[in-house]
Amino acid sequence: MSPEIEKLLVIQDRDKRLIQLEQQLVRIPAERVEIEERAKAAMSRLDELKLKAKLTEAERKQLENDVGSKRTQIDKWRSQQVQTKKNEEYQALAHEVANAEKEIFKIEDKELDLMERSEKLATEIKAEQQVLNDVNAQAQRQKETIGKRESAMKEEIEKLKAERAALSATVDESFLSRYERIMRHRQDVAIVPLQHGNCGGCHLQLPPQVVHQAKRSAEMVTCEQCGRILYWSGEYEPAAEHASR
Ligand SMILES: [Zn+2]
Repeated sequence: MSPEIEKLLVIQDRDKRLIQLEQQLVRIPAERVEIEERAKAAMSRLDELKLKAKLTEAERKQLENDVGSKRTQIDKWRSQQVQTKKNEEYQALAHEVANAEKEIFKIEDKELDLMERSEKLATEIKAEQQVLNDVNAQAQRQKETIGKRESAMKEEIEKLKAERAALSATVDESFLSRYERIMRHRQDVAIVPLQHGNCGGCHLQLPPQVVHQAKRSAEMVTCEQCGRILYWSGEYEPAAEHASR
């Protein structure tokens, strides 16, 4: 293997890791959003329950007021009863009082239902508050983990870039620019080993002449299909051996 290829392989190794790290870094904002969304969802479930509880309480309060005004009305009718001298009017008032008392019973039944609902809601609110606390605590931990992961990745990227720069300085410029062109184009690997006479990148069966050239490693050999740089990794190549004879 030519020394240039050897150096480029090391550069490629750093580049592969760099690509991997950049891809992971790009996903981090989405991970953060997902965590925020979970916390927001728990918060809105709690808000919804609290609103329900508030409306239930308002409804109960309204019924309480209704009962209050009916009782005031009953008191008025009763004092009118005391004052009246007409039997008919007295009976009419008695009838009104009885009706109003029946209505009060009905309203008080509804009030009891609402009180029960309020109690249930209070229990649900307590449970949901606990869920929210847990979600928030978990979100906090996850955000810290992501933050640590992010800075570790950024640190590694800086280190890799520095290593890469130092290595690049020792490689023949035309080789390096060729490598970089292929890398930009391919986005995965630019230098691949020969695998049983095939290109290690696109798996094209290579002509024996190309295999032979790569073995001699006198010049840079590329795959005619994918354009990647080929190198001989030292494996036994019966087909190529035979063909080159
Ligand atoms: Zn290829």
